[in-house]
Amino acid sequence: MKTALVLGAGGFIGSHLVKRLKEEGFWVRGVDLKYPEHWDTIADDFITCDLRDSKNVESVIRLEAYQGFPLPSKHSQYPFSELLVFNEVYQLAADMGGAGYIFTGEHDADVMHNSALINLNVAHYAVKGKVKRVFYSSSACMYPEHNQIDPANPNCKESSAYPANPDSEYGWEKLFSERLYLAFNRNYNLDVRIARFHNIFGPYGTWKGGKEKAPAAMCRKAAETLEGENIEVWGDGQQTRSFLYIDECINRVLEFMRQDSFIGPVNIGSEEMVTINRLAQLAIDASGKNISIKNISGQEFESKYGFKCPVGVRGRNSDSTLYKKEMGSDVYYPLDKGIKETFDWISKQVNS
Ligand code: NAD
Repeated sequence: MKTALVLGAGGFIGSHLVKRLKEEGFWVRGVDLKYPEHWDTIADDFITCDLRDSKNVESVIRLEAYQGFPLPSKHSQYPFSELLVFNEVYQLAADMGGAGYIFTGEHDADVMHNSALINLNVAHYAVKGKVKRVFYSSSACMYPEHNQIDPANPNCKESSAYPANPDSEYGWEKLFSERLYLAFNRNYNLDVRIARFHNIFGPYGTWKGGKEKAPAAMCRKAAETLEGENIEVWGDGQQTRSFLYIDECINRVLEFMRQDSFIGPVNIGSEEMVTINRLAQLAIDASGKNISIKNISGQEFESKYGFKCPVGVRGRNSDSTLYKKEMGSDVYYPLDKGIKETFDWISKQVNS
């Protein structure tokens, strides 16, 4: 039986990944500070613990470890007759959130400290635990700010990463950890796969509370807003982004993870670039309501929220050229379809 360890399994991408791995017949252990918020995990074993603590990482990476495991675990019996190592380890755990969390500066120290500690532990104990392969989820936020000033022509080719100049500490930590896993690959033969995600979205993600990303925030606002009123969009709405639907993200993660020649880093994202106002319009269209968009920025924003409007870089789009070249397949899911599916789920949450 194939075995997988998903770190960050209580989060958005991690919980979808657990579901897919179970559908494929894997024995799966999930680990997180928390259980998934919006659905029950179907992991065979789910351990709630803090991955900043090296002892916890050492334990969860050893498959047999939970015999007498001191941490809360969903199951308590080692199910295999022999000692095994994990075939696939997915490192998705990170201290992260949307623009209101990453770009205000208030959480910079925690974001860097927490995520770096997790990755330092995982790289080290993955070598010690002899895991077969580790996937690391980096982010498009590591790309240099100076290549993302023109909203119509952002440059997010993998080769544009250096000289480095991410626009957030979150991006700097991702860049550091990419280099960490690459160094463990060179010096300790740790088999790694590194992908840079570009705005992954879909149902069963954070949709309120300040850590939600733009697609979920737009869908929530459209679901909550009454006919004839307007929804608020931070900034002038002309900043550009691309968004990839969760199912396609998981398809590409698994495809990338299960080939033997290319370790990345590689972009996993959509090339369907839209303005944030267009994204808001798609959410409005999905609601079927007559709602308009109100952009809020500058002094008006500061007076209302008490901090500067956090909008991030002006333009960002995924570039799938390298992915297509190395993997021979495209990364594609229509944005309007993904937004409709996300809206329908968020709308149910709003009205329940
Ligand atoms: P998420 O916040 O939903 O999931 C991350 C999970 O990590 C959370 O459940 C959190 O509780 C867990 N975690 C944080 N600190 C922990 C700790 N100390 N110990 C144990 N667990 C801890 O985020 P997501 O959207 O599922 O993203 C998964 C990964 O992909 C992250 O590394 C993120 O940086 C990266 N990424 C995501 C996107 C995106 O658009 N969703 C884009 C770029 C990169």
